[in-house]
Amino acid sequence: MAGPGPIEELASRDAYLAEAEGNVLEVVEGGILLDRTVFYARGGGQPGDVGVLRWDGGEVEVVDTIRREGKPFHVVTADVELPTSGTVVHGRIDWDRRYTTMKTHTALHALSGVVFRDFGAKVTGGNMEPGVARMDFELDGISVEFGQQVERKLNEELTRGYPTEILYLARREALQDPDLIRTKVNLIPDWVEEIRVVDIVGLDRQADGGTHVASTLEVGHVTVVKTESKGKANKRMRIELGPVPATTVASTDPAKGEP
Ligand SMILES: [Zn+2]
Repeated sequence: MAGPGPIEELASRDAYLAEAEGNVLEVVEGGILLDRTVFYARGGGQPGDVGVLRWDGGEVEVVDTIRREGKPFHVVTADVELPTSGTVVHGRIDWDRRYTTMKTHTALHALSGVVFRDFGAKVTGGNMEPGVARMDFELDGISVEFGQQVERKLNEELTRGYPTEILYLARREALQDPDLIRTKVNLIPDWVEEIRVVDIVGLDRQADGGTHVASTLEVGHVTVVKTESKGKANKRMRIELGPVPATTVASTDPAKGEP
């Protein structure tokens, strides 16, 4: 796929943008390439955005956004007539789904920060869906109690409202940053000269291309729903976003005497 000039990927600069206009660069079987997009292409454990593209005289559902030959590719349903190159299209993502994903993604950073700070364990892997995620740690053992302890610490940290900052560091600078070394910045391909860093200031800092909320306060409550062993020095925690469970908040009696 060819395309003149770099494609503007708006989500990397402003995660809170839900819609934007762009021009069709190319239409190929199953997908559309735009010169400017608000859709996040699947990567770094974060799922691709879904949503809709509209243009004068038509619209199509975007069922996934993936990266093909380095470019964000809008995967569309095949049963409609697609716009031709040069057409101006208006893209809108499924914002609720994306926002839930941003909260989930930020929760994973906080989890990784807490587990490293308090237990010295590095992350070995992870993945997320909107509202649920898993993360693997270089730990010798894990237990339900450990999960509960981590959950308590994690929620305590989230409510402190750490701000998220996006920085762009020169590669040589990034390669000397202890936090970035720990999170394997050296695995980023050599040709990447400018490295995007997500800094949840004071809690977690890593090279990352994904979308996150602006403050850990936005994440809300996180529950560690499962702890499991995935082998020697590889232990997994599964988390879920959601309201504070009823058992941990002071409950009031249901109104009595109502009809
Ligand atoms: Zn991230």
